[in-house]
Amino acid sequence: MANLATGLTQCPECHEPLLVPVRARQVGPAEYALHFDLSQVREHVDTHVAGLATELPPAAQ
Ligand SMILES: [Zn+2]
Repeated sequence: MANLATGLTQCPECHEPLLVPVRARQVGPAEYALHFDLSQVREHVDTHVAGLATELPPAAQ
């Protein structure tokens, strides 16, 4: 039996709410394996990283 839930976290840069889909898979009688899908969070944080890189002065690179 697989369960799907959605967690919520906050971007450390702009404090925008970000969704984290969580999948719980039963792997034993009382054991569950959790999988956090952080792809949306990574994509969002990547936009900040890209912005920071372009804001750096040439001398600092
Ligand atoms: Zn952000």
